[in-house]
Amino acid sequence: MKATVLHAAEDVRIEDVPDARIEQPTDAVIRITRACICGSDLWPYKSLDPSEGARIMGHEAIGVVEEIGDDVARIKTGDLVVMPFAFSDGTCEFCHEGLQTECVHKGFFGNGKAGIGGAQAEALRIPLADGTLYPLSADSDEALLPSLLTLADVLGTGHHAAVVAKVEAGKSVAVVGDGAVGLCGVIAAKRLGAEQIIILGRHADRTDLARDLGATDVVAERGEEAVERTRELTGGFGAHSVLECVGLDQSTETAIAVARPGGAVGRVGVPQHTAMPGARASFYGNVTIAGGPAPVRAYIDELLPDIIDGKIEPGRVFDRTVGLDEVPQGYRAMNDRESLKVMVRP
Ligand SMILES: [Zn+2]
Repeated sequence: MKATVLHAAEDVRIEDVPDARIEQPTDAVIRITRACICGSDLWPYKSLDPSEGARIMGHEAIGVVEEIGDDVARIKTGDLVVMPFAFSDGTCEFCHEGLQTECVHKGFFGNGKAGIGGAQAEALRIPLADGTLYPLSADSDEALLPSLLTLADVLGTGHHAAVVAKVEAGKSVAVVGDGAVGLCGVIAAKRLGAEQIIILGRHADRTDLARDLGATDVVAERGEEAVERTRELTGGFGAHSVLECVGLDQSTETAIAVARPGGAVGRVGVPQHTAMPGARASFYGNVTIAGGPAPVRAYIDELLPDIIDGKIEPGRVFDRTVGLDEVPQGYRAMNDRESLKVMVRP
């Protein structure tokens, strides 16, 4: 089968790899209907050293179950399913708490771990299929597929940032980052009733979309100026909740600086450094810092009905669709900021 293989920085190729197949009785194999390229895929795309080994990319997809192992009971062949970016057993105490990304048997797709495949491919082996996959209604409207695809990562991740940043009705929210996760953070903040939603981003086309999705204010400045401007917009004190959707030192520092005293920062941008900035600013501001890999599997129950009812349209973050053979161009387009988020139709 064909899959997207990253060999080294900026060296991504479509290659023939061994077919996805059942290896454990708890596995399923899905045929990929739609996948996409994630902002977090751009980190290894920019920096992978060949010594780290090639990896099959992709961790977001919708697919049809082609085959199941003998111990799979809940998922059936032919099911249309969402594949969250992490797999989980669905039975441990963390899964029961709705924190599947801390499952005792968890793992992440498309990150190069031996034996784990990626979703930018024709098919994918899903470990722990009963706990991992989320079945959709078989007659799901094709027009909804882009929005349903965001349940695999970006919508649930933006929602997680909002939840851990304690977004509440009537409160102010600042969203740091205008990528797909930041835009989904805007959708999530609006959905949770935030009164003021400030997006911090420099790309006019993206911040325009953010306004369309519910942002009330745009801060295009960076660094100190962005902090000043955000404080001005929030009565001088900063936002109750801040969603950090980038993962860089500067964005994290900005996120902490624009939080109101006693406020909270929800971090979902994958941190690119080992130490966290803003130790003093967050301490003296009594700012709560929370977040991590979003348990998107848990959030589908809550978010899916709003997509089906048309209340939210997170699929608007996709601005380009490519076939599998054009995935390398998709990476380039996203890396060059020519494209916000690329959908893949194998
Ligand atoms: Zn578990």
